[in-house]
Amino acid sequence: MNVILLGPPGAGKGTQARKMVDSYHFEYISTGDMLRKEVLSESQLGKIAKSFMNKGDLVPDNYIIEMIVTSLGKLDVTNLIDGFPRNISQAKSLDKKLIEHKQEISLVLHMYVEDQELINRLSNRAVCISCQMPYKLKFPDEINEITCINSSCDNGNIKIREDDNPESVTRRISIYKEETFPVVEYYKSLDVNLVDINAEGTEDEIFQEISKFIVV
Ligand code: ADP
Repeated sequence: MNVILLGPPGAGKGTQARKMVDSYHFEYISTGDMLRKEVLSESQLGKIAKSFMNKGDLVPDNYIIEMIVTSLGKLDVTNLIDGFPRNISQAKSLDKKLIEHKQEISLVLHMYVEDQELINRLSNRAVCISCQMPYKLKFPDEINEITCINSSCDNGNIKIREDDNPESVTRRISIYKEETFPVVEYYKSLDVNLVDINAEGTEDEIFQEISKFIVV
């Protein structure tokens, strides 16, 4: 079973993915998390990816496709894919890989949120560098007072993501519209099982809505 999460930055894909992994034991594959790990370890890919990511641009397809194809090795498990595909060319690479393995996309969850709400959510967000758990800051200095709720994470690890600055957020939203939203239309045209999820409610409301479509 392969479930794809699509939605703009700030839609809450990571938050819902966490809930889905807890409840349904998905194998979670996030290209954003994978790239952030590469950046943190200063690998060759990380060094290349960093400048694209910080500006809010997409990392070029050749790097992404190689990275994701390796991690999609176990296509017989229940995969939850977040952050991929992000353009039509990536969607076609995924189609090819799935056909080779006689697999298909079981469900695409398309989460949608108004732009202003996305900007609000991202403008006061901090994340745990270890587990990516997001935290909403009530005031900027609160970042020094928060510790991650996951006991296994290091206390000093809550940071503002480098791409959560206003310029990069604007760029990420516009790239989503230009390059990623067409993937939603592509899947609709192929009659893939795609559902539109209004992602403006509370985390639990959205999760309840998503749960209606998960058959395990
Ligand atoms: P968000 O959805 O909040 O923008 P992600 O964590 O999914 O965040 O991705 C962060 C950044 O990583 C993206 O802005 C982009 O630079 C890079 N990235 C992640 N996935 C892909 C992908 N499939 N193709 C190209 N770049 C990607």
